[in-house]
Amino acid sequence: MSIYDRFGVTPLINATGSVTRLGGAPMAPEVLAAFHEAAGQACSLEQLQAAASREISRHTAADAGLVTAGCAAGLTLGAAAILAELDLGKMERLPRVADGRCEFLIAREQRSGYDHAVRAAGGTLVEVGFNEIVSNAGVRRTEVWEYLAAITDKTAGIVYVAAPDSRPRLAELVQAAQARALPVLVDAAGEVLPRRSIPELVATGADLIAFSGGKAIRGPQSTGVLCGRAMLIMSAGLQMLDMDDHPELWNPPAPWIERSLLPGIPRHGIGRGFKVSKEEIAALLVALDLFYSGAYDAWRPRYLSWLEDIAAAVPAPSQTRLLNPPDGERFPTLEVRVDETRLNRSAYDVCRSLRNGSPSIYVGHGQLSEGVLVIHPLCLTEERAGIVARRLVEELSPAPAESPR
Ligand SMILES: *Cc1c(COP(=O)(O)O)cnc(C)c1O
Repeated sequence: MSIYDRFGVTPLINATGSVTRLGGAPMAPEVLAAFHEAAGQACSLEQLQAAASREISRHTAADAGLVTAGCAAGLTLGAAAILAELDLGKMERLPRVADGRCEFLIAREQRSGYDHAVRAAGGTLVEVGFNEIVSNAGVRRTEVWEYLAAITDKTAGIVYVAAPDSRPRLAELVQAAQARALPVLVDAAGEVLPRRSIPELVATGADLIAFSGGKAIRGPQSTGVLCGRAMLIMSAGLQMLDMDDHPELWNPPAPWIERSLLPGIPRHGIGRGFKVSKEEIAALLVALDLFYSGAYDAWRPRYLSWLEDIAAAVPAPSQTRLLNPPDGERFPTLEVRVDETRLNRSAYDVCRSLRNGSPSIYVGHGQLSEGVLVIHPLCLTEERAGIVARRLVEELSPAPAESPR
């Protein structure tokens, strides 16, 4: 009986990768051991976060860093840091911004449900550009001049969502923003592979970059990283950490928190609800180390062989395509194209049937409208891959032809 059965929850097979709804990525034994060991002893969270900052700098080349309660919390803290900087009065008033300088420019084509993370800090989003390719009304993406043309005295910064084909290029946007003294906050949640990706984003000079700890990094699902300019990270840390100490005694770790830059101790800030525990921090730091050392690459041959086995099992007339990114770091995936006409079932039907079967299987659902199921190996095992193959055979085998009367 699994821990989930004990609480009346049926476990499922996740064949769609580190998605949040299904609990993120599996943690390596070293990561779980770190969690367990850290739980056994007390430490100062300020000291631990300062140590985390050094580790994050080592891996990403950012000036400083903070372990956050996920990437979305990192975006809220990043926005709060940009809005308040080291002004204790401004920190105290968030999410209200007295002078109204709270607007973040964002490309219309980069908007998503994660907008909330920025608005929660007191930011408002001002769209620039269009989404002409999706509306099939043009061929161009958002351009740097469109951000510059939208700047007013209410503009506090720029929010940018990093993806392999994001436009404009971050480096160009940062250069233009710096000329106008505007900070850039980057959502790079899932964009950590290949491993040079985050260091490359840092190298653009972007002021703050947030990413998830519970996706390809395989730390606790509830963790993330915010990294970037030391002053902004200090502001974010002050607005997240518990601040209940005496002015006579408070001794934060410099230079991560440089007390001499502050006129006093802030009260609990807007990010106090985004607490990260010592166990989560320790586990994430070990996961970051495994990730950036390339230790996870050893899993790749297994991932490929599971996907090949599943591909070999999928019955005609459905077809498969194995995608194996040439960088050797990003995950291989398997596309299963359902022959909707000959099976007389849509990919949605097959996906639903897999979810409702026993055991329940969740496959990648990003291309269902094109008739494609996607199999992602991150949360599989050899046994689970075998079950996925068997269930796909059951779901995708054509009904036997009717015998002539
Ligand atoms: C996953 C994701 C987030 C949220 O990350 P968490 O670590 O779950 O908070 C934010 N933005 C994008 C683009 C994401 O994919």
